[in-house]
Order: sequence, then structure tokens, then C-alpha cells
Amino acid sequence: MFPARAEGKAQMDQVVISSKSCPDCSSQMPETAAFCPGCGRSMIAPERAVGRVGVFPEGIAGALAYFSFIPALIYLFREPYRSNYFVRFHSVQCLLCWLIAS
Ligand SMILES: [Zn+2]
Repeated sequence: MFPARAEGKAQMDQVVISSKSCPDCSSQMPETAAFCPGCGRSMIAPERAVGRVGVFPEGIAGALAYFSFIPALIYLFREPYRSNYFVRFHSVQCLLCWLIAS
């Protein structure tokens, strides 16, 4: 009946489909928005650094720190483990737990 009007509605639907909403305030924004227009929250997901430390993936190296206190001591004095924040954190946490438990 009104092809131009129906076409316009189809275009509006496409605009709605390609938008996203803020997880904090539910404001609608274009898919390419870097920040929420409602609350200013960044829409770019923080990327988790997934790296390797020595021969291990970072998560495995952190988990190994908890097998007794010996790997944690090794990590605190050996490169590249001592310069990795994640591994150093778990090494120190492991040693503190051992100190408290003993
Ligand atoms: Zn928002």
C-alpha cells in the first residue's frame, strides 16, 4: 500500500538491530559507540592479558606457586617469573599463607 513508508520502517528496524545497550544504565547507542551517552561507561571491553611466563602460560605459573612454598620461592628470585605481576602476586600470597599456617 505505501511502499516508501514500509521501506522507511525497514530501515528503522535495521538501525535498532545494529544498536547496543549499556549494561549499567540501559541507554541505547550505536554498535560502534566507544562510551555510553547516558553514564559515560567505556563500551570497549577490557582485554585480559594472556601471556606466557617462562615455559608456562601465565595462569599455570600462578597456580604452580601454591604447590608447597618451593615454587613460590623460586618465582620470587628467578627471571622472568619475578618480573611478572600476576606470578609475583600469587607467590607472595602463597608464602603469606604458609607463614600464617605454620
Ligand atoms: Zn550507561
